[in-house]
This record gives sequence, structure tokens and C-alpha cells, in this order.
Amino acid sequence: MNTLVKYSFDELEDFVESLGEKKFRAKQLFSWIYSKSVSDFDAMSDINKNFRDKLKNSCVILDSKIKKKQVSKDGTIKYLIEFHDGNCAETVLMRFDNRANLSACVSSQVGCYMGCDFCATAKRGFIRNLEAYEILSQILIIQQDTGLKITNVVFMGQGEPLNNYENVCEAIERINKHLNIGIRRVTLSTCGIVPKIRSLCELEFVPTLAISLHCADSNVRKQIMPVECKYNLDELKKVLIYYCDKTGKRVTLEYVLIGSLTDTKEMAQKLCEYIKDLKCNINLIPYNPIGNDKYKKPNKKDVMIFKYLLESQGKKVTIRLERGADIDAACGQLAGKT
Ligand code: SAH
Repeated sequence: MNTLVKYSFDELEDFVESLGEKKFRAKQLFSWIYSKSVSDFDAMSDINKNFRDKLKNSCVILDSKIKKKQVSKDGTIKYLIEFHDGNCAETVLMRFDNRANLSACVSSQVGCYMGCDFCATAKRGFIRNLEAYEILSQILIIQQDTGLKITNVVFMGQGEPLNNYENVCEAIERINKHLNIGIRRVTLSTCGIVPKIRSLCELEFVPTLAISLHCADSNVRKQIMPVECKYNLDELKKVLIYYCDKTGKRVTLEYVLIGSLTDTKEMAQKLCEYIKDLKCNINLIPYNPIGNDKYKKPNKKDVMIFKYLLESQGKKVTIRLERGADIDAACGQLAGKT
């Protein structure tokens, strides 16, 4: 069976012709798949029955499907998506009462090999990269299932997107072109693969960048994030300055507050020092427990003090709302459990 989302527009035209149909049919099909997000050929009302039957016999729209769906009491929906080979990874739909945005949090790999010590995905190890169309499929599945149009995409599901660079770039281009989501509404989050961040800056469409910084003390960062041994905070900062200069954008620094480890006043001061000359916003993420708990949540008072210390440096600081923690859909809790 052929899978239609694998095709570029030109390839879809060729495929339609191979079925003995006129080229313009590809345009109709494209619009049903990407703009109207239908999951069923019979819903394609301007395509005649004869052609629909040919399609049913020769192809599928997607080759991945929902294996499990969980709805949180805050409205977050977590989908466990099963890919064609039986591997699974999560996609999360986040909605916020006070905003019109509908954000899809997509996975770029099944598992991850970066080994961050506080992250559930890392505990799973690395299984495989996702293809560009498998990333795109995650968004289409949400749109098909809910009938809603996704407005923002964040690469914050399973995987380190910059370790799957080519496929992720192709997915970003297709999200932009085929799903009509502006490049500013696409955010790529990375633990800091420095050379790939540099490459990103050279793209025609550069996504918004979020960095999993989590600690501004190199020794402590090494303990929780092995990436620090390869690309340290100094190198990371240089490339972030380059990103800001080159693109004119700000970078978002994600910072997990782990009780008594990264949430102290001393750590806040180190972070202030680190970001002094960086055009950035800070997003604080209170640590979400992942089972075997070596680390603990910060207490509310320490979170507020930490925020205050950063704000007094004139930085914009937000605290990430804990979304879907009751269904293990919050940051760092995605581990492909079935
Ligand atoms: N690999 C990429 C994309 C993952 S995004 C990256 O590192 O940026 C997921 C975010 O959740 C990252 O910032 C990650 O560090 C953070 N995270 C991981 N485990 C967490 C936990 N237990 N609690 C809170 N945030 C966590």
C-alpha cells in the first residue's frame, strides 16, 4: 500500500496520473488531506466514486494510528501513536483557556540517546528516528481526531530533534507549507547540540529556538545532562548569540527547577550571570516526578524567589503551566508506555 502523506505535491501528481486520473485531482486530494484533515476517502465529496474506489484499493492516507488516547482534566489530550513498524511515541495537544492557540507537541524520535538524568524518555533509550512524514502525521492525526486546526507546533515530545536533523528540517518545511503554520509558530527545543544549532541559522525558514538549559553551573549541569561534557555552556552561549544576531529573534531558555539542586539562590545568580548579554526569555519548569525519584519538586516559595531574582535582571520570565500531569503528559514524562 502507498501512503499519501509520504508524497510531495509533485509526487502526488505522478501517483494520481499512475491511477489514470487527471493531474488536477492531486490538488483536490492535497486539500482534503492537509486543509480539511479527512481520514476517509468517502468524505472527499468532490471526488467521484470510481476514483475513490481506486484510492481505497491502492493507498492509505496515513500509516500510523492512535493506539491510546487520554484526556486530562485540564483539557490536554495525550495520544500514543503507533507507527507502521509497531513502535510508539506520544503526541500531546495543549489548549489554553485564555488563548486561541492550539499547540501540538510532537515527537521527533522514538526514545532518545541524550541521557538527561531527570527525563523519562531518556530512561527508555534510543529506538529510532522518525521520518518527516511521521512527524507530520502526528499533527494530522490530532486534526482528524478533534476536527480542530493546530496553530502552533513545538518539538518537545520524545527525542532530541537535532539528532534527527534532516528529517526534522523537512518536517518543519512541510508543516509550514502544507499545514500553513507560520514559521514563528514552530518551536524547536534542544538540549544544545551546538553545531546543529549553527546549521539551523542558515535555513531559509528558521524556527523559534528553545534551549533546555536547566542549569548555568557547568559541573552541576554535567551531572544531570551528559550533553554538557560534549558541548559546554560557553560554546552554547556563543552559538545562541550567533542565532540571535543572525535571525533577529530571541531564544527561549527552558529551566527545570529541581528542588534543592537547580532552584537555589546561588543557581539563580549563576543563571543571571549567564544570560546577562543574551536576548532571551526564560521559561521555568517545575520538575515533574518520573517514578524512581532521585530528584524532587521545588517548593512554591523557591519557585517565586527564583523568578523574582531573574526578573530583577529585566528578563521576561514565565512559569510553564503543568499540563496533563494527571495523565503523565507533562514535560519529561513521555516514555511510550502502553
Ligand atoms: N530533547 C529536546 C526536546 C525535549 S523537550 C530537549 O531536550 O529540549 C522536553 C522538555 O522537558 C525539555 O526541556 C526537558 O529537559 C524537559 N524535561 C525533561 N524531563 C523533565 C521533568 N521530569 N520535569 C520537567 N521537565 C522535564
